[in-house]
Order: sequence, then structure tokens, then C-alpha cells
Amino acid sequence: MKHHWKFGLIAGMMLLLPLALATTTITTASAAAKNTTTKTAKKAKPKAKKHYLIVMGHGAGDPGARGNGTTEATFLRKHMLPQLRKYAKKVKGSTITFYNPKKNLVSDTLYHHKGSYKINKKATVIMFHLDAPAGHGGHVIIHKKHPTKRDRRLAKVIKKYVGLNKAYNGYSYRTNLRNCNVLRRRGIDYSLVESGFITNKSDVKHLKKHMAKIAKADIEAITNEHIK
Ligand SMILES: [Zn+2]
Repeated sequence: MKHHWKFGLIAGMMLLLPLALATTTITTASAAAKNTTTKTAKKAKPKAKKHYLIVMGHGAGDPGARGNGTTEATFLRKHMLPQLRKYAKKVKGSTITFYNPKKNLVSDTLYHHKGSYKINKKATVIMFHLDAPAGHGGHVIIHKKHPTKRDRRLAKVIKKYVGLNKAYNGYSYRTNLRNCNVLRRRGIDYSLVESGFITNKSDVKHLKKHMAKIAKADIEAITNEHIK
């Protein structure tokens, strides 16, 4: 009897041992998980990434201005958008999204009460257009009386690759653009980039020739981040 009892005790302890070990493992694992969670939470909290929404002008049945065998909507989507997307992917410090290229921000806003009415107030909107009917060079339509640092960087890109429109010397502050006024009233920061004249042969030639460099420089100007 005594013998059996002793055996029972040892057997019982042997059964309990893996259980005790397992419990220790679980405790350690959950402690590690807790630590990781705390660390991630601490890291992610203070750095909410800045969101930029890029909008290619016109589209959805609105061709925009015409010139040099193309339209604003086609040129912006076919030549510029793929390059902008390529460099937008390389940005680390900000989030860049694109307004659905099958849609038209202006008509969505003015005729459907969507578009600019639905954009998150914390986002910054960058709109790309081409100018017409006649002239040379680009400029930035700004949302406050004086250009922001971002507007200045965007104007520099135009100056370098296409040239600035002498009529504006880089910037134009306008309050008669209804879509932009919706953004302004809602307190949304924006810049509208007129990259050059679609009707000007030399402007279009420069835009096509340097499109990759322009797109890279524009993304850098928007985010103020250097892309390798
Ligand atoms: Zn336009």
C-alpha cells in the first residue's frame, strides 16, 4: 500500500511538472506580448502621418482645355498620373492618395454636393491643371494671400522645368473658383498647380520630356521629403 501511494505521488508530480512549465511559458509569452503592445502604441501615437490628396483636373466627360492634339484630362491622366503614383509610393513620412481619376472633383462638388464636401478636413488637397487659351509657363493658385512654403517649392519645380507665367510671377491668389472656395470654407488647405499651357508647343514639349523629373520634384515639393 505504502509503495503504491509513493508511486502515485511521483507519478502525480510528473504529471504536474509539464503543466507548471507550460504555465511559466504562457506567462512569459503574454508578458512579452504586453511589452510589444505598449511599445507599438507609444511609437505610433504622436506621429499621425500627414495626408495629401492629389487631384488630376477634369475627367468624367469634361476634357478641360484642348491643345497640341490632347486635352487637359487626357494629358494629366495619361502622362502625369502614372509618374506621380510611382513617386508617391516612395514617400515615407506622409500618406498620398489620388482622387478617383474616373471622377471629376469640380462637378462632384458643384453638382452633386460630394467631392470637396466629403474630403477630410485634415487632408491637404493638391490639384493639377494645365492652362489655356494662350500664354507660356505655369503658376500656383494659392489658398491664402501669401504662398506657403509648399507653394514656393511647387513654383520652383515649374520654374525649373517649364518656366513661370510672367503674368503671375509664380502665384495667383483667387477667390472666384467655386470648388476651391468650398475647400476654403471648410478650412481645407490646398494648392492648385497650373503646370503650363496646354496650347503652348514648347510648354507641352517640356512637360513631356521632363515628366518623370517633374513628378518626382512635385511629390518632393508637396511632402517636403527627399526621394532617393
Ligand atoms: Zn483645368
